[in-house]
Amino acid sequence: MSLFSDASRFIPGGVNSPVRAFRGVGGEPVFIERAAGARIFDQNDRGYIDYVGSWGPMILGHAHPTVIRAVQERAALGLSFGAPTRIETQVAQRICEIMPSIELVRMVSSGTEATMSAIRLARGFTGRDKIVKFEGCYHGHSDSLLVKAGSGALTFGVPTSPGVPKEFAAQTITLNYNDIAQVQQLFSDSGNEIACIIVEPIAGNMNCVPPVPGFLETLRAVCDQSGAVLIFDEVMTGFRVARGGAQALYNIRPDLTTLGKIVGGGMPVGAFGGRRDIMEKIAPLGPVYQAGTLSGNPVAMAAGLATLELLDQPQFYEQIAARTTQLMEGLQHAAKLAGIALSTNHVCGMFGLFFTDQSPVRYFREVMACDVERFKRFFHGMLNEGIYLAPSAFEAGFLSAAHTPADIDATIAAAKKVFATL
Ligand code: PLP
Repeated sequence: MSLFSDASRFIPGGVNSPVRAFRGVGGEPVFIERAAGARIFDQNDRGYIDYVGSWGPMILGHAHPTVIRAVQERAALGLSFGAPTRIETQVAQRICEIMPSIELVRMVSSGTEATMSAIRLARGFTGRDKIVKFEGCYHGHSDSLLVKAGSGALTFGVPTSPGVPKEFAAQTITLNYNDIAQVQQLFSDSGNEIACIIVEPIAGNMNCVPPVPGFLETLRAVCDQSGAVLIFDEVMTGFRVARGGAQALYNIRPDLTTLGKIVGGGMPVGAFGGRRDIMEKIAPLGPVYQAGTLSGNPVAMAAGLATLELLDQPQFYEQIAARTTQLMEGLQHAAKLAGIALSTNHVCGMFGLFFTDQSPVRYFREVMACDVERFKRFFHGMLNEGIYLAPSAFEAGFLSAAHTPADIDATIAAAKKVFATL
């Protein structure tokens, strides 16, 4: 019996998060036993060059010795106390230093908790109920946000999940990502009813789609005019596209920021923070309730702190950006030689591959028009060659600091072989 059929006896669909089940590409998922640097290894110790990086957190590469040591040392002191610890302050201080828009920050245990709590806070702060999100952006699986969402919800064609009350969904207004005129129209009609805009400043859950010039600036302007709270969901982009996230890259100051993934260095951590006057509305300072038994868990904080410290290495982001450019250019060149229509987007160590003539891909409808069947064949061909890509045409890929030029060359060589079979 395969590990997957064994898992499926006890776990719904054999997985604890839907996209892992390979439904977006067909076949059975690879079970991972261990990982080191740029590679993950299956139960037979077959290695794969990994471009998923646990869906974003592993920017240093897997099992970085400094992070592992920090976790081991911290774990030996006890796993959880449910009382404040010094290391929580150290992580919070570092986040506030790296992202100056964050004046106060609250730790949680996942990106979903971060966005869910930020939305509640924005509603509590403004006294308004309606929220704005963008089609194809995924902000975790809480009720108000699971409307026309990206990621697994796209793969499964279930934009709005059963179980989300329609009264909740009715409070969520969904607009087209990168459509500036539509945002302006909505806010001129009913801006004073809107509690917040939540946006992925670079969309990473409908593959990788950067903002068009003026899009984020427009969001900032309409929020300033209407009193709505601007929330940048930087769960994926935070510490990823630049040390200070997309807000540093594009020089836009959101009111609130949600974080996850890298902030926990591979442990279950999320965070939300921002303007002091808004964050002071959170309990125990204010009336908006939010809590967590394991929030700020010391072992998770140790992984996060060690990871954040290592981002300060000289040329850290420049090197990842250069390797990503090398990969994208190599793949495009190989696709061209093979007569395959391939379009790519990338921002620093975050990238998207699209089987389409459209270049660049900027809108949700363009993402959805890509050749998913060709992606599936590409995915399996690459897996067979020892390259592990995200098992869905709608997910961004990630490089880590551990990916070497030789890894990139091996990936391009594999793609050449696979393109010839498409
Ligand atoms: N927000 C964004 C932008 C994400 O990419 C994700 C997860 O991929 C989330 C929120 C939810 O985070 P988590 O899976 O940790 O709940």
